[in-house]
Amino acid sequence: MTVVIIGAGMGGLSAALALLQRGIRADVYEEAPELGEVGAGLSIQPNARRVIASLGLIDDLADDVVAANGAARRDYRTGAILSLNRYDQADWRTSETGVWFVHRADLHRALVAGIRRLAPDAIHLGHQFVGFTQQDEEVEARFANGQTVRGTALVGADGLRSATRAALFGPESPRFSGIVAWRGLVPMERIPPGLVSPDSCRWIGPTTRILCYPVRRRTLLNFVAAAANQTWQIESWKVHSDVSELLAAFEGADPAIHTIVSQTPPELLYKWALFDRDPLPTWTVGRVTLLGDAAHPMLPFLGQGAGIALEDGIVLARCLEAERDVPAALARYERVRKPRATTVQLESRANAQVPFDRAVETSLYGRISQRERADLEAYDATAVPI
Ligand SMILES: Cc1cc2nc3c(=O)[nH]c(=O)nc-3n(C[C@H](O)[C@H](O)[C@H](O)COP(=O)(O)OP(=O)(O)OC[C@H]3O[C@@H](n4cnc5c(N)ncnc54)[C@H](O)[C@@H]3O)c2cc1C
Repeated sequence: MTVVIIGAGMGGLSAALALLQRGIRADVYEEAPELGEVGAGLSIQPNARRVIASLGLIDDLADDVVAANGAARRDYRTGAILSLNRYDQADWRTSETGVWFVHRADLHRALVAGIRRLAPDAIHLGHQFVGFTQQDEEVEARFANGQTVRGTALVGADGLRSATRAALFGPESPRFSGIVAWRGLVPMERIPPGLVSPDSCRWIGPTTRILCYPVRRRTLLNFVAAAANQTWQIESWKVHSDVSELLAAFEGADPAIHTIVSQTPPELLYKWALFDRDPLPTWTVGRVTLLGDAAHPMLPFLGQGAGIALEDGIVLARCLEAERDVPAALARYERVRKPRATTVQLESRANAQVPFDRAVETSLYGRISQRERADLEAYDATAVPI
């Protein structure tokens, strides 16, 4: 069996590594000429940590993970703590609660290293997928560089604007949420000690919100800020923003936010419009399926998009290991994963609205309760019945 995977993001790489670990050949085709990830942080909840552990990447990440000591929601104007969770992560490798923070590039590098340890040539760069043809026993993928490859299965892990999804189900535009996000990294030495405490702090205002947390051995403070009611609609990880624009969006907010934002080096401040899509009726046709944002792009308001993509990868590999009939294995993968991914996709959308609808919001996580959050994080993709 050879699984052809389109896209070397978190989802495609986790699927490839999980397959290789089960002795199944996997090749990843990525359109970019070089591997890399943008400069931004990722929050990793316990459900995603179980996947990272089962992929054997804990040691690769040991120097990079920040195991958060707690999370607080602060008053938007005064900064007073409204709700607080403390996490005991003294043994961060095995702790079952709390959140880790990583730099996206560090997790990406760990996944690539894991794959190359098992299959040095499994990642193929400069391959932009343009279409496929499916037959009884195999599927052929075509690339813009003129090359074609054959496999027993094809997995589209090519993100929000997935060409695989369009090839399967026809073109359809993603849905603009009306929300624009900014992502920034601030060298920690520019932040007054104690300004962001505990590790994760979020301020939720009537039309804006910001979440801050440390990454890279606490040498950088990552923030993701969002503002509603916007019309600007460019979705790209490469558009720089201007500090004054972001400060204006947070006019009247806690001065701590202004201190953080104003210290952001211009080259480390990006902005992009947030899109998602409605759930698809199905992800799979025969030997071809979708995974990660290609299948279920979600807004970032539960911090779960990458986590759910990682889960997809493990479950896909488990299904292909358990069931050698490829269409049956892919159908099984979809049956296990679609309800879970759809729930998180729709909850993320609902959670986006809360702070923008209600000026006073007391839950740490927005609309969903602590209990619902715990249920979401309890999912174990490495053991869920398939
Ligand atoms: C502001 C923001 C904050 C977020 N914060 C978090 C967070 O804290 N925690 C979390 O878990 N998630 C978070 N997410 C979500 C997370 O970033 C995504 O869900 C995740 O990256 C999806 O991974 P993926 O592999 O499915 O897709 P992607 O990461 O988009 O990867 C797709 C890959 O496919 C490649 N590709 C695209 N088209 C083609 C083609 N035609 N041919 C070949 N290759 C192609 C791309 O170059 C890319 O490498 C956030 C998202 C946003 C926007």
